[in-house]
Amino acid sequence: MDIHVPKDHPRYQSIAIREMLVEMADASVVAPAGLIAHGRGEAFDYLFGEDTPPPAYEAIEASAASLLIASHPVLSINGNAAALCPHQLVKLSEASGAPLEINLFYRTLEREQAIAEVLYESGAQEVLGVGDDASETISEVGSERRRVDPRGIGSADVVFVPLEDGDRTEGLRGMGKTVLTVDLNPLSRTARKANISIVDNLMRVVPLLTEAVEKLKDRDEKELKKIVDTFSNQRNLKASLDYIADRLYSFSFEGE
Ligand code: ATP
Ligand code: MG
Repeated sequence: MDIHVPKDHPRYQSIAIREMLVEMADASVVAPAGLIAHGRGEAFDYLFGEDTPPPAYEAIEASAASLLIASHPVLSINGNAAALCPHQLVKLSEASGAPLEINLFYRTLEREQAIAEVLYESGAQEVLGVGDDASETISEVGSERRRVDPRGIGSADVVFVPLEDGDRTEGLRGMGKTVLTVDLNPLSRTARKANISIVDNLMRVVPLLTEAVEKLKDRDEKELKKIVDTFSNQRNLKASLDYIADRLYSFSFEGE
C-alpha cells in the first residue's frame, strides 16, 4: 500500500486508515457509503479519546460468553469490517468456531468476491454467503442483506454483526436470533436494538473479543450463561453515554 502521509504526522494512524479504506473502495471491497460510515465512527471515536471506554469491556465479555454458548454462531462481515481488520476477524472465527459470512447492503458479486479474497488472503479457510451460496431469503430483513447462506446466518442462533444498520438488527432479532454488534455510536438504532452492543472501535474490539473467548473457553455453560443474563444492554449504553458526558464536561472546564 502506498501511504502518502508522513509518519511524523500527529494523526498518522488515522489518516493511514483513511487512505487504506479509499484504496479498498477502489478495489470494490468498501462501498462509497462505507467511507461516510467510517467518518461517523471517527467522530465518535474522538469522544472516547480513541481508546476502549470502560463499559465496552463488560460488553466484550458478555459477547464472548454468548458466542461460546451458541450452538451455531456466525460472524457477519461487510466491506468496512473486512478492510479494517481481516486477520483479526479470521482469528476470532477460529477461536470462537463461528464461520465468516459475507452480508452486504450494497451487494454485487464483484464486491462479494473482492471481500472473500481479502479474507482468504488473511488466512480464512472458508467464507460463506458468496454468490449462489446465499440462497436463502429472509423476509424479516430488507434490501440485499436478506439473502443469506443457509449454512450460516440462515441457521444461526447468535450473529455477530459489526457496523450494522438498525433495521437488519431488528429483522434478525425478529427471527429470534441473538444479535451482537460493535458500534461507536451509542445512540444508533443498531446499538439500541442489539442484545449486546460493544461501543468501541471494531479494530480494537476484535482482538479483545478473541482474547475474551480464549479466556472463557473452558468455563462451564452455567457460568457463561450467568455472564450473558446479568448483562443489560440498556445499562451498558447508558454507561457509555455517561462516559462521553463526563469526558466532555471535564474538557469544558479545563483551564478555568
Ligand atoms: P443505525 O441505522 O443503526 O441508526 P447509522 O445509519 O447511523 O446506524 P450506519 O451507516 O448504518 O449508521 O452504520 C455505521 C455505524 O458504524 C455508525 O454508527 C458508525 O458510528 C459506526 N462505525 C463506523 N466505523 C466504525 C468502527 N471502526 N468501529 C465501530 N463502529 C464504527
Ligand atoms: Mg442506518
